[in-house]
Amino acid sequence: LKLDPDTRQAALLFAASDYLEDASEKLAARFGAPVADLVGGLRRLKGLQLVTGKNESAQSVKAQAEVLRKMLLSMSEDIRVVLLRLASRTQTLRHLADQPGAERGTVARESLDIYAPLANRIGVWQLKWELEDLAFRILEPDTYRHIAKLLDERRVERGQFIDEAIAQLQDKLAEAGILAEVYGRPKHIYSIYSKMRAKRLEFSEVYDVRALRVLVSDVKGCYTVLGIVHHIWQPIPQEFDDYIVHPKGNNYQSLHTAVIGPGGRALEVQIRTHEMHRHAELGVAAHWRYKESVGQDAHYDDKIAWLRQLLSWRDEISDSSEWVRQFKRAAL
Ligand code: AMP
Ligand code: MG
Repeated sequence: LKLDPDTRQAALLFAASDYLEDASEKLAARFGAPVADLVGGLRRLKGLQLVTGKNESAQSVKAQAEVLRKMLLSMSEDIRVVLLRLASRTQTLRHLADQPGAERGTVARESLDIYAPLANRIGVWQLKWELEDLAFRILEPDTYRHIAKLLDERRVERGQFIDEAIAQLQDKLAEAGILAEVYGRPKHIYSIYSKMRAKRLEFSEVYDVRALRVLVSDVKGCYTVLGIVHHIWQPIPQEFDDYIVHPKGNNYQSLHTAVIGPGGRALEVQIRTHEMHRHAELGVAAHWRYKESVGQDAHYDDKIAWLRQLLSWRDEISDSSEWVRQFKRAAL
């Protein structure tokens, strides 16, 4: 996650408190107050008992709301504590994935209900997908294996496929003199499962298992890129959507197409301007950021934007049980 030395030290040291007396003072003396503070924050967060899953009684919903409130509070104090918590939970799931036992189900459930949506909200995609796939593998091993088998390629191989498709497209875009940012991702197993279930699709109808995204500076460029994509790879009929001319309800704009990519495999390509992308990724927060951040470090701004978005969203919901429901739903 490219975090700073203090955070990495805290990640290695937080368990020491289980074995040391006066851990906080000792850690501060040896490693500095900032590290000791991070460890303290992480331990407070870890101490929160989360209540998730089937138990939706009024009392448990209330308890859960309280936990989430504390998490968000600690996030507004120091977002690194929450990143540490998410990393630690990912580590726990990696460990539990190979350790049969009844109680790991609870940890997995909690990860799907709380930690993955939280990772999604603050934009830590790298942890979100792994939390979801590990939890899903623990909770529904048969379905997980079934989809993994249908994928017929491992994650690394799908990553390589994406890299090759990016290189191929970038070549053609350069030839045409188009300045574009191109990236992609293999869809993770839990996301494939959720999509199949939500849209009642067969596996073969999920066209974004492998997908690219192209960002350009203006709308005209979007259609030029679309032409080039359809020239290199044969479009799959009925799979083109123009959300630039017909934006989605939430003002989402983009061109979506699916093509027969390299090696005869389906490939989704999304094409949009940088501005449309900012809106899609950061929503309302993107707009004040755009105005305020003249000449500032964009990466730092992005983090703050996420944090602000998260906190403003907490303020929007006054009833705590409603907030829990929103928390669960909003990020999925
Ligand atoms: P999903 O595949 O819908 O679970 O989305 C997972 C992540 O992949 C999110 O961060 C999306 O923004 C990103 N994503 C979705 N579609 C594409 C695409 N065509 N190219 C690149 N990234 C994408
Ligand atoms: Mg998709």
